[in-house]
Amino acid sequence: MSEMTTDSMGATDATDAIDAMDAGPAGMVSDRDPTDAPVMIHLDGVEKIYTPGADPAVEKLTLDIHKGEILVLVGPSGCGKSTTLRLINRMIEPTSGRIIFDGEDVTDIDPNELRRRIGYVIQRIGLFPHQTIAENVGTVPRLLGWDAKRTRTRTDELLDLVGLDPSEYRDRYPKELSGGQAQRVGVARALAADPPVMLMDEPFGAVDPITRDRLQNEFLRLQAEVQKTIVFVTHDIDEAVKMGDRIAILRERSIVAQLDTPARILAYPVDDFVDDFIGSGSTLKGLHFERVSGLDIPEYPVVRRDTSREDARRLLEASDNRWLLLLDERGRPARWLNDTHLADTSRPLHEIGPVVRALVERNATLHDALEAMITSSAGQAVIVERDGTYAGVVQIELLTEVIGRMRQEARKHYERLEAAQESGASSSGSGA
Ligand code: ADP
Repeated sequence: MSEMTTDSMGATDATDAIDAMDAGPAGMVSDRDPTDAPVMIHLDGVEKIYTPGADPAVEKLTLDIHKGEILVLVGPSGCGKSTTLRLINRMIEPTSGRIIFDGEDVTDIDPNELRRRIGYVIQRIGLFPHQTIAENVGTVPRLLGWDAKRTRTRTDELLDLVGLDPSEYRDRYPKELSGGQAQRVGVARALAADPPVMLMDEPFGAVDPITRDRLQNEFLRLQAEVQKTIVFVTHDIDEAVKMGDRIAILRERSIVAQLDTPARILAYPVDDFVDDFIGSGSTLKGLHFERVSGLDIPEYPVVRRDTSREDARRLLEASDNRWLLLLDERGRPARWLNDTHLADTSRPLHEIGPVVRALVERNATLHDALEAMITSSAGQAVIVERDGTYAGVVQIELLTEVIGRMRQEARKHYERLEAAQESGASSSGSGA
């Protein structure tokens, strides 16, 4: 797992995380439907009223959290995210409603018993300052009565897992750690008894943006390995989009405004509240969720070193494109050629025209492709195979088309849902 940390050192945006994970469970480009997995936690009309007579902090919330997914609860401050999270492990007792955990009604069991099955990570994780890192990580195993040897083995394993060398860190104290390291220890501590479920309340909220980004990437990699069921609270929509297999956008009283995959929410916010909350740039963010390999790439005019100028000119004229792509002797993209270049007879073609630099592989996201396009002299990105040979050209029109299609598909999805709900409502209405 040391690879996890070294690799992630330079990772500064979501795309790096995606590439590293290659569409892992919380990858932005995943065709997996999180709701195909069985339900791990079922909240059934769970309500919390702190002050009798006042508005509920959480109003009759019914929600399924599926095995192995990261479900992000996101919404404005005070909308009830933390309360909802704490209801799940009964740090707060619900006023009414039931909590079903892996098929078992846990609403009335001993909360300590429940909490052993649920890891909990919070902002400024509250490590015990007078305990070493190893003692902190071993908190739950000690409570569970594990012997010293087993606890030690598990602690070292976990420190390793979160990218902290046990020999270097196990005997240190929390104050000797940076914010990011402390947060990793917090994650290790929550994972100690290998709970199937983790609750995370703004876990990366207290660190600087670069560290946060790195911790998020590490965490996604870790999750690809440990595959926990995770409920993750944040007020930051970008973090939600990056971390969530699904996102529940909450309005006041923890009412679900929209619950779906990030891709679908970005493509089709159901109302003004969601639209405002997502903010600008949702279309661009949405491009993180599609891969170049999913595109239907039209033919593009290419020439080789042995193509004559005459043939090249004819090819360009016959095409709708302003540029020809010249491949080198090994079939790799070399240069862009337009009619000015073709008219320049002072040098051979393979010495004229801008060098092709904007290359993307098939597993790149459309966001990567767009970035490549913007930097390309020809305004288009060239797709290459792993060995660098030419595979196709992506143009802006194709991206526009894909964006339109994403929106349309998401809209149809919601229309179908609505129709199903209406017919459900009318049939139950007629049966009553
Ligand atoms: P969020 O996590 O979305 O910021 P919270 O769950 O912390 O929201 O709070 C939801 C609402 O419940 C807020 O109006 C908050 O003031 C209220 N609240 C939270 N905790 C308590 C408490 N212990 N006693 C009374 N009211 C509370």
